[in-house]
Amino acid sequence: MKIDIVSVFPEYFDVLNLSLFGKAQEKGLVTVTAHNLRDWTHDVHHSVDDTPAGGGAGMVMKPEVWAECLDDLLGLAPAVIAPDAVSSDAHDDDSASVSPSGAVNSAEAADTTDAADSGHAGNPTDAAASVTSIVSDTTSDTSEAGGNAAPVLIFPNPSAPLFTQRDATELSHADHLLFGCGRYEGYDARIPEYYRAQGVDVREYSIGDYVLNGGEVAVSVMLEAITRLLPGFMGNPDSIVEESYTGGNALLEHHQYTKPATWRGIAVPPILTSGDHGKVDRFRRDEALTRTNDIRPDLIEQLDCRQLDKQDRKT
Ligand code: SAM
Repeated sequence: MKIDIVSVFPEYFDVLNLSLFGKAQEKGLVTVTAHNLRDWTHDVHHSVDDTPAGGGAGMVMKPEVWAECLDDLLGLAPAVIAPDAVSSDAHDDDSASVSPSGAVNSAEAADTTDAADSGHAGNPTDAAASVTSIVSDTTSDTSEAGGNAAPVLIFPNPSAPLFTQRDATELSHADHLLFGCGRYEGYDARIPEYYRAQGVDVREYSIGDYVLNGGEVAVSVMLEAITRLLPGFMGNPDSIVEESYTGGNALLEHHQYTKPATWRGIAVPPILTSGDHGKVDRFRRDEALTRTNDIRPDLIEQLDCRQLDKQDRKT
């Protein structure tokens, strides 16, 4: 699976080199590139935001910068940049480029703050000069890694439908995911609208009913939920078969216990150490049903009763 992430803080994604995700990259199951959105700016401040139409607090991410970036990464537009649209700084700095890992601009992004993002970025390298090479590089990457598979463009957004295990499962079958991380008051609503109109599969998801500072954490959450479902990602493939929210009639999982059988006066439920697998299965199933009913009654309402057995119904 090919994964592109666009952010003004691409170094957020350095953690993807750790743990199971790091191993998945080593094994070639996933290739991840974190891009710095500022690499597609042309002004001296590398600004990616502007004041909200209609007034109000904060700043909104501008569509033009996102469009140049997304056109490139989706392979939708030729690399035509009008000479007068590129700042003289950009022409002066031929050394600026986007590294495949986005690392070149990590330090700059770390130097910038939200205040700086509002028009006074620290000391970013101007990568506008290398837009042409970015386009040709990413275009060839797409054809090599993704074949003809259509990319899915995903924007985290607190006011979008909730991201669920079902979405994670569906997206785990995609060959190419492209995530766009919002910041400030969010991104201009015309960006997803435009790409949908171009026939791109655009998704907007919230990861929960709360507001984060930016999309980076939300993308990390979605990415982990999606990629752990890839064949070969988990050390033990069985560990993703029976989990909360998984399967047709999704329930919360039963409690988990390990040794010792009694710890600080609290015993593991005796059935679990009885060796009777039928009883263990029934005990876990009942506990899953009861816990789901208590904690997430909305999931119980969604159950397909035809798939419940007699004992399920009693529970
Ligand atoms: N003004 C927006 C609102 O009230 O809905 C909040 C914008 S938030 C400060 C900036 C960015 O963080 C969003 O564009 C989105 O990318 C990301 N974000 C924040 N909370 C999120 C959530 N719960 N789920 C997904 N993305 C979120």
